[in-house]
Amino acid sequence: MSKDPDCIFCKIVAAEISSIRVLEDRHTLAFMDINPIAPGHTLIIPKQHWQNLYEMPDAQLGFVSASTKRIAAAVDKVLSPDGVSLIQANGPGAAQSVQHFHMHIVPRTLGDGLSINWPQRPGHLDEIRSIAEQLCDALEQF
Ligand code: 5GP
Ligand code: ZN
Repeated sequence: MSKDPDCIFCKIVAAEISSIRVLEDRHTLAFMDINPIAPGHTLIIPKQHWQNLYEMPDAQLGFVSASTKRIAAAVDKVLSPDGVSLIQANGPGAAQSVQHFHMHIVPRTLGDGLSINWPQRPGHLDEIRSIAEQLCDALEQF
């Protein structure tokens, strides 16, 4: 399995650093973003290290898409947002800050005014954990 020893997401996959996980299967891992732009902000990654969309094998994109769909359904069920945005950044112009492919799931509220590039601010761990637990319960249905 390809891995980058300096990559923070590879370390999360290997549980070398902690994360609040909501879904794991053979190929993908989903965990809560530590700097949520909105409550329920979740990341889905391939377990193997690929830097960006251009490097991702099609089959791996399929695995990430399937997990993304399940998480989005759980987010919709638990948080009842006005919408859900999928955001995936490639390169500095897109503000990609972690060089391991990842899909953002961002719950949206009408009029929230979120921009595609956003400043990273630490979230409240208790709130992130509480939402993660609700998502894990809801995922049994999806
Ligand atoms: P990007 O800016 O590359 O599109 O998104 C990277 C995301 O990873 C950011 O939203 C950032 O908050 C998140 N992130 C960075 N380091 C960590 C970490 O150690 N743990 C978690 N859970 N999220 C992280
Ligand atoms: Zn990595």
